[in-house]
Order: sequence, then C-alpha cells, then structure tokens
Amino acid sequence: MNDSQIKSCPNCNKTFQITPEDLAFYEKISPIFNGEKFLISSPTLCPDCRETRRLAFRNDRYYYSRTCDLCIKPILSLFKPSYTDKVFCNICWWSDKWDPLAHGREFDFSRPFFDQFKELLKASPRITMINDNGFQSVNCEYTNDLSLSKNAYNVLSSWYTEDCMYGFQINWVKNCVDNTYLLRSELMYETIMCENSYNCAYCHQVKECADCVFGYDLQNCTDCLLCAGLRNKKYCILNRQYSREDYLKFKENFNLSSYASIENLKKQFDDFLLKIPRKYANLISCENTTGDNLKRCKDSYDCYNQAELHSCKFMTSGDKATDCYDCTSTGNPELCYEALTPDNGYANAFIADCWNAKYVLYSIECHNSNNLFGCTGLKKNSYCILNKQYSREEYEKLVPRIIKHMQNTGEWGEFFPPILTPFNYDETAANEWHKMDEETAEKLGYGWSGETLGSFGKETCTWDKMPDQIENTLDTAKEIFACTVCQKNYKIIKEEFDFYKKQKIPLPRLCPNCRHLNRKAKLNPKTLYLRTCASCPQKFQTTYAPDRPETVLCEECYLKTVY
Ligand SMILES: [Zn+2]
Ligand SMILES: [Zn+2]
Ligand SMILES: [Zn+2]
Ligand SMILES: [Zn+2]
Repeated sequence: MNDSQIKSCPNCNKTFQITPEDLAFYEKISPIFNGEKFLISSPTLCPDCRETRRLAFRNDRYYYSRTCDLCIKPILSLFKPSYTDKVFCNICWWSDKWDPLAHGREFDFSRPFFDQFKELLKASPRITMINDNGFQSVNCEYTNDLSLSKNAYNVLSSWYTEDCMYGFQINWVKNCVDNTYLLRSELMYETIMCENSYNCAYCHQVKECADCVFGYDLQNCTDCLLCAGLRNKKYCILNRQYSREDYLKFKENFNLSSYASIENLKKQFDDFLLKIPRKYANLISCENTTGDNLKRCKDSYDCYNQAELHSCKFMTSGDKATDCYDCTSTGNPELCYEALTPDNGYANAFIADCWNAKYVLYSIECHNSNNLFGCTGLKKNSYCILNKQYSREEYEKLVPRIIKHMQNTGEWGEFFPPILTPFNYDETAANEWHKMDEETAEKLGYGWSGETLGSFGKETCTWDKMPDQIENTLDTAKEIFACTVCQKNYKIIKEEFDFYKKQKIPLPRLCPNCRHLNRKAKLNPKTLYLRTCASCPQKFQTTYAPDRPETVLCEECYLKTVY
C-alpha cells in the first residue's frame, strides 16, 4: 500500500490511487510488437470518470425513427434523424452488401489519431442498434447490446435470452418481463439481482427459489411471501411458518392479481425490509473481493453487478471475466482493458462494441476479427489499420510507429475522447449512471440534446377507468396509456399482455423507463465506504453509506440472523 501513487482526476478533482498491482496489470496487457513492449501507462482519470467516458458511447434508451441508408426501409435507431452520416438496419449492416474496407485510408503521421478515426467513423455506416438480429438472433430488432437471443423486446445488455421483454443484463433466461440483472431463470417478473429461479415476482436477491412473491435475500425457498433472509423454507409469510393449507388461504386473500393490493403490499414489504439487518454487501461465494452484487468472484476489487470475475478491477454489469480492468456491460472477456462490451474478447483495449475480437485496439463495432487498430465495421478481418488491409509484417511495422506517434500526441493509453461519440451526453447510459448537468457535460466536451422523447396526452384510456384485477382486464393491444409518474404515453404489447394474464399480474401503470429506473434505484450507488459492523468490531467496505437507516452487519453476524 505504501508504494501506491495518488493521482488527482482532472475531470472531477477527486484523488484516486494507483497500486503496484495496478501497474503490474497495465504492464501485463501492454501490447508487444517485434519484441518491443508498448507500455500502457497508468490512467489519468479516476475509475468513475473513466466509466463515464466509456458509457458516453452507449445510448441505451433514446430511440428514433429513420430509414436504413442501404435498403431504405424504416428503422428504429439509436441515431437521431439529425445524425447525417450513414446508418444501416441490422440485416444490411451484417450482410455482405457493402465493403467496410472501401472506407480504408492511410495513416497520416502529421495529424492526431483521433481526428483521423473520427473521419473514418463518419464515412462508415453505423449499425442502427447494437444487436445481431438477422445474424445470430431472431426477432430481436427492438433491443440494444443484445446477442444470441430469440424473441426479445426492449432487452438491453443481455445474451442468451428467449421470449423476454423489458430487461437489463438478463442472461440465460426465458419468459421473463421487467427484470434487472437476472441469471439463468424462467418466468420471472419485476426482479433485481436474482438467479437460478423460477416463477417469482417482486423479488430482490433471490437464488434457487420458486413461486416466491415479494422476497429479499432468499435462498432455496419455495412458496414464500413477503419474506427476507430465509434459507431452505417453504410456506412462510413475513418470515413466519405456516401449513400448506393456511399459506394458500392467506395467499388467496392477499389478492395478488389486483393492482391496489400489490401497491399496498409493496409499501408493507418496504417497511418490513427496513427493520431487517442487511449484509454489508451482496457477495455470493466470493473470495478476496470488494464491491457489490457479485457472484462467484475471486481476487477482484471495486466491481459491481457481475458474476464470475477472476482477478478483475473496476468492472460493471457483466457475466464472467478474467484478468480485466475497466470493462462495462460485457460477457467473458480476458485480458481486456478500457472496453465497452468486449464480449468473448481477448487482449483488447480501448474498444467499443467489438465481439469475439482478439488483439484489437482503438476500434468500434468490429466483430469476429483479430489484430486491428483504429477500425470500424469490420466483421471477419485481420491486420487492418483505419480499415485498410495490410500484411502481417506491414501491420507489425506500422502499428508501433502509430503508437509512438500517439505517445507524442498524448492519445496513447486514453479511451476515445468525447468528440468521437455520436450521442449527446443526456442520451447516453453515462447520464443514467453518472448524472451531469448540461454545463458540466459541455465543459467536458459532450453535446447536449435537451429533448424529452416520446408522446404525451395521447392516452386512449385512463387508469381510473381500468379494472383493478387482471382477470377483468380486456385485451389492451389498441390502448395507449399514460405513465403515472412521468405521464409519458406507452403501450402494452400483445405478448406482454398475455404474460400478465397468464401470470395473473396486474397491468403496470408506469412506463417501461420508469419501471427500469425504479428497479435500478433499489441498488446501492457504486461507492464503497469503510464501516464497522453494527454488532461486532469487524470493519468492511460497503455500499451502504454511513447515514443510511439500515442496520449493516458483517457476514458472520448477518448469517446469525438468517435461518
Ligand atoms: Zn474523476
Ligand atoms: Zn437495410
Ligand atoms: Zn414514466
Ligand atoms: Zn459483525
């Protein structure tokens, strides 16, 4: 610890630490060309500002109508109609109907790299939404950062999903609606951080459970209602044991298909949860790990909302990674650094949305490729620089010269600067995780849209005229609703309505965005505080800020409270 450097972040003025282990990592992932290592030096920005800079390249929730610039069909797009460069629909983008190498260019050593990469990005068509619909996914047009899925609607940052709607980071799941961070589950509704579960609703941190409603930190439980901190239980209500007959009678009386009852139960459950102690962090089967909402992680620090990390640091939202720092929204990368969605990637750095890529540097939307530098839109290429093809020998000679050039311009070792993102700051996921006002965003070089998307006042029915029970609710396919929080209009599509009918769930009166934000608000902010256990002297790093009302316990003391 004594050998750590302390740096001051130029963006937020906070200090941050670079440890000897960090320096060893940067050295380990520094690329080697012809026996010469090109050192990636320690970062200039703090971990939060680095994540902000990456997430500014991700628009998750602002969709626009435009036309595909190749097949001229109307499409839904992450790009505003005022974005004048080419945008292709997924079918066209993934097809062989265009040649990304046609936009290739020579590197100009008299100019900065980022300026030249910006011109290449402008000349190359962008994919309308980041998904592999029409290539490896089926019927998943309306999704972002999604792959290897079937029938997904408004599912973000996910893979291996089937028949799912409205989800964020839901992986290996089937028939689920309105979930955030869900793993290997089926028939789940309105859950956060659950895994290996079946047919649960309104649950947070449940694992290996079935048929539970309103649950918090349950493991291997079935048929539990309004319970928290239980293990291997059946037929419990508010943590009290009942007979099967009594449980079923009570459950019936709770009237879970009524909107009014559900709203009452939500309040009752929130009050109940305030009284139960919390474990300092939601770390499940983790070893030598800090952060929150982590499962089966080892030797990983300051990581959030991830499963199966080994020797990682500063990682958020993902499914499996080894030896990585600073990756956001991803699955299965190894030896990657400063990357947005390096899915199944190996030894990549400073990239956005490159899947199955190896030894790729400074590239955006290049897939199934290796040995690329400063490329975009490539799908099965190797040894390209600025989308121009080279031989292996030429590539290995030219890249070191470019890196040396970038060391002189101060670009080497930094992720893409704000001038390269096609999105305004307030359209991006960065603004969701790291809120900024217009003035601050503009000072850092980001654009600002200031637009509120969506329609208002076009509702065809009001909630006071709708039946309280789902059983009495008729087909809503033609109706337009207004969100009771933001008043934005939204629809309940047929598949969604069928799910509520079948699962006996009352229709949601909030728009999908407000539902997502409500779930996200239940996760603690990603800041670690050093605190002491409320019932013993043990100290720990926790995301529960010292002024929060919950009683926060160390693992040992917490385990004494669960039964
Ligand atoms: Zn900072
Ligand atoms: Zn098209
Ligand atoms: Zn809303
Ligand atoms: Zn304790």
